[in-house]
Amino acid sequence: MKATNQTIQQRLEQRLARYVAMPTVAANTAACKDAIRTITNELNTLGLKTYVTDSDHPWVMATTRSNTSKHVRVLLHTHFDVVMPSGDEQYILRTEDDKLYGRGVLDMKFSLACYMEALSELIQHDELSSYDLGVLVTTDEEVGGEHGVKEFLDQGWTCDVAIVPDGGRDFKIEKRAKGFHLLYLDSHGTSTHGSRPWEGVNPLPKLLPAVLEIMDHYKNDKPDKPTVSINGIDTPSAFTQVGDVARARIDVRAFEDSELLTIEHHIKNVANKYGLTMTRHLEGAAVHLDEANPLVQTFIQCQSSVLGEPAEFVESLAASDARYFAARKIPAIVEYIHGGGHHSKNEWISRTSLIQFYEVIYAYIQNAALDRTGTSVARRLLATPKKVMRNLLNR
Ligand SMILES: [Zn+2]
Repeated sequence: MKATNQTIQQRLEQRLARYVAMPTVAANTAACKDAIRTITNELNTLGLKTYVTDSDHPWVMATTRSNTSKHVRVLLHTHFDVVMPSGDEQYILRTEDDKLYGRGVLDMKFSLACYMEALSELIQHDELSSYDLGVLVTTDEEVGGEHGVKEFLDQGWTCDVAIVPDGGRDFKIEKRAKGFHLLYLDSHGTSTHGSRPWEGVNPLPKLLPAVLEIMDHYKNDKPDKPTVSINGIDTPSAFTQVGDVARARIDVRAFEDSELLTIEHHIKNVANKYGLTMTRHLEGAAVHLDEANPLVQTFIQCQSSVLGEPAEFVESLAASDARYFAARKIPAIVEYIHGGGHHSKNEWISRTSLIQFYEVIYAYIQNAALDRTGTSVARRLLATPKKVMRNLLNR
């Protein structure tokens, strides 16, 4: 028998309270390890096979079937790390009318609560192994994602679609997100004591005109256009010392990877003109959601039918872990539920949208992750006639 909505709501909120109470700031390795251990146990209890990477930023991948190919059709992702709260009371889930407050409720612990409750409900009806599905929980998104999603993909894991509920807003799905190149522009000189400047070569006079030329070239006045922001100039040296290097930090953002490369090429030319060196410190791919992909279509349909309205889309200027999937041409569905104040002390989600997201995930697992080759149809028909017939008819 399917649990009532009230029971589900209670279970979701209890689970979320437990997750919010875990102080999983990315720098708190002990807390992240504890959390991954607890979540791994929960996934094992549900019957999933788990693969844990126990580093300073630990992560766990769980699959519904033993997995030698390192491939799943549907990947449900959550980063479990949160930004540092301004007070410990934010680790206590607080309810006020239709709002739940707490560190990480929106960014993005609500999603794992929904995945876990949906899975524990689904296995009451169907064999878990009928689904081709993975759950990935990482702990380093707020510090770059290199030791989480990137490492996971570098280890050879793949999926046909990734659910990454970490952006957009109010169930609006990210249609595209800007990629970035973070560049260094270095000018070299010779250091000397500040009382005898003639004995050294100050690196700033070469760097500053280049910086001004770049700032003049990029107006940065339209959100949908590429932006080039000089975020800082560093001259690592003592107060009374002329440093031997001056370094500008340049943050380039654009919706197309080709635009990022064109801009980088231009900045490189400016660097050459002034005798500077340019290096790329970090890059992130732009994200473009392929709406025509059948697994994306299924998600849009599931969500539209739960919410009773057509799906809406947004654009994002900032990056999420979705960029790592995008770099490997894996469609990533990025959205938040109704909520706000992420990274602030008033981070909240709406209780109504928590259960709505649960229903979207529940329907999506049923409609997209059912693996028709994994178990014979006859066996599944025998096991759960109604459910399987409904799944088949829905397709
Ligand atoms: Zn996030």
